[in-house]
Amino acid sequence: MSLRLVIMGPQGSGKGTQAALLAERLGVVTISTGDIFRSHMAAGDELGTLAQSYTSRGELVPDEVTNAMVRQRLAEPDVAEGFILDGYPRNCTQVDELDDILASLGTRLDGVIELTADRGELLARMARRAAIEQREDDTEDAIARRLDIYAEQTAPLTASYAARGLLVTVEGTGEIAEVAERIATAVAGVRS
Ligand code: ADP
Repeated sequence: MSLRLVIMGPQGSGKGTQAALLAERLGVVTISTGDIFRSHMAAGDELGTLAQSYTSRGELVPDEVTNAMVRQRLAEPDVAEGFILDGYPRNCTQVDELDDILASLGTRLDGVIELTADRGELLARMARRAAIEQREDDTEDAIARRLDIYAEQTAPLTASYAARGLLVTVEGTGEIAEVAERIATAVAGVRS
């Protein structure tokens, strides 16, 4: 059975790691908007240059740009078997756009997984990641800005998904394998 899922969670919640593990378990692709932007930045193309001017400050890339990119990606053949969207949608406009894209493909979301963790844990994980990955947007200012945008624009989206009966919330604190099991259990509920 193909599953179409969104994974949400603040920076440092382990969302990217868990999206990859879950995708492997379900045999579906992961679509990470952050990863797509980073590959364009590495290529130094026009989209990459534009994205970099926002990501380096921890700001969102404009919706028109992000929406068009996601629309294009979701039309690719490998997505037909299902997907996990990581990093999208991040605001109300993107929620509407995603519904519209899926409707035009004759499908819809099956579930939204929200990963939670307390702020202390998030900041500790971000500090560790900054040291290891050396991402340009892992400066103290850009991290703070991203956490603020998450709290202001992204976290409130869970209420609308909950109202639609799509939301499952999973505690993201603990070992990677332990959290992965919790997510798998939550997804089994979505499938049945
Ligand atoms: P993080 O969750 O740590 O912020 P991501 O890899 O998800 O990392 O995103 C990195 C950056 O890419 C974001 O700060 C933003 O600039 C850009 N980005 C990713 N997804 C979106 C999106 N859905 N809308 C706008 N900008 C995005």
